[in-house]
Amino acid sequence: MQIQHFISDRFGGVSEPPYNWLNIAMHTGDELTRVEQNRQILYQKAGIVRAQFANQIHSNTIVEIDKFIPPPSCDGFITTKARLPLAIMSADCFGVLLYDKGTRVIAALHAGRVGATREIVAKAMQLMQNRYGAVNISAIISPGIHSCCYEVSSQLASSYPKRFIKRGRFLDIKGMIYEQLEQNRVESIKDYNICTCCSSEYYSYRRDGVTGRFASIIWMEE
Ligand SMILES: [Zn+2]
Repeated sequence: MQIQHFISDRFGGVSEPPYNWLNIAMHTGDELTRVEQNRQILYQKAGIVRAQFANQIHSNTIVEIDKFIPPPSCDGFITTKARLPLAIMSADCFGVLLYDKGTRVIAALHAGRVGATREIVAKAMQLMQNRYGAVNISAIISPGIHSCCYEVSSQLASSYPKRFIKRGRFLDIKGMIYEQLEQNRVESIKDYNICTCCSSEYYSYRRDGVTGRFASIIWMEE
């Protein structure tokens, strides 16, 4: 049994500006036929047949699935099934992918400011531990907006613990994710360590406004 993951960037798709090129999201105004083509390209690149997507709502709702279902309103999936790739769409938010090889349980989470504030990462790890007996959870953190580019209002900044605020009022979402991972005894972290707002290779809502979404996908092979 092997854990696999794939994180797409902007390249290799058929969408036109401002969605250029590999936009995999249906909800941002892009032509649906192009998005459908892009998802097929995405599956080919990843080496999978299809993936489970969600109607993401910036919540801490996590849905446990054992088969493909119509996209539910949630921001996380957990499964123990092989060949059931779990996909997160983002453009600045982090895709956080979790797995425990020993107990064969994986999760994919959409962790932006709101999801991280609502502790979706801690919630998923506790579910994996309490319901599935996971003991050695590893994490993969996708590109996402870093504190270099994530200035928030002073009112919002003051609502967060000081340790998550950099240079006055820049919020460190990834710091929040790391804290939840570490407090729940994460085994290892693979961090892509790319700021989507700094890198033109990824979609960034903060930088571009109307734009596409890239995908973070995790799955188990048999
Ligand atoms: Zn940046």
